Amino acid sequence: MIYETKNRNETFELGKKLSEDASPGDIYCLSGDLGAGKTAFAQGFAEGLGVKEDVTSPTFTILCVYEGGRLPFYHFDVYRFEDSFELEDIGGDEYLYGDGVCLIEWPEKIKDHLPENIKNVVITKDITKGGDFRRIETDF
Ligand code: ADP
Ligand code: MG
Repeated sequence: MIYETKNRNETFELGKKLSEDASPGDIYCLSGDLGAGKTAFAQGFAEGLGVKEDVTSPTFTILCVYEGGRLPFYHFDVYRFEDSFELEDIGGDEYLYGDGVCLIEWPEKIKDHLPENIKNVVITKDITKGGDFRRIETDF
């Protein structure tokens, strides 16, 4: 599906809506440049799952775990990874093959370590349509 959003809130709301179909073990890969809106999408997704805590960007922590929603929510930002081995170092498989939902920012960094059944979300800007325009393409 292709969606278009005109501001951060619309991306947040899209994440919230798409979380309704999330099932245990689902892995969502969020691709897009810095500032594309991956974290905004993830924050809406978390709210849709019923996460009550504030969801912050895990850029410095790599992984944030949120329990208490409809499903456990595992929010990764692996921007700082050099390669997939670092995922093993943090025990990533426990989450990737767990019963919660994973959302991964910068999945290309660990693409050779991801299972095949992932759901992809690609966020791109189109500056000709304004600074806040985003095109959000999903393969589900
Ligand atoms: P990323 O995690 O991809 O680096 P963030 O979600 O942290 O991106 O930041 C996106 C930034 O872009 C925020 O400052 C947000 O307010 C802004 N923004 C402007 N328009 C949009 C939009 N349509 N969707 C999402 N974010 C937007
Ligand atoms: Mg981010």
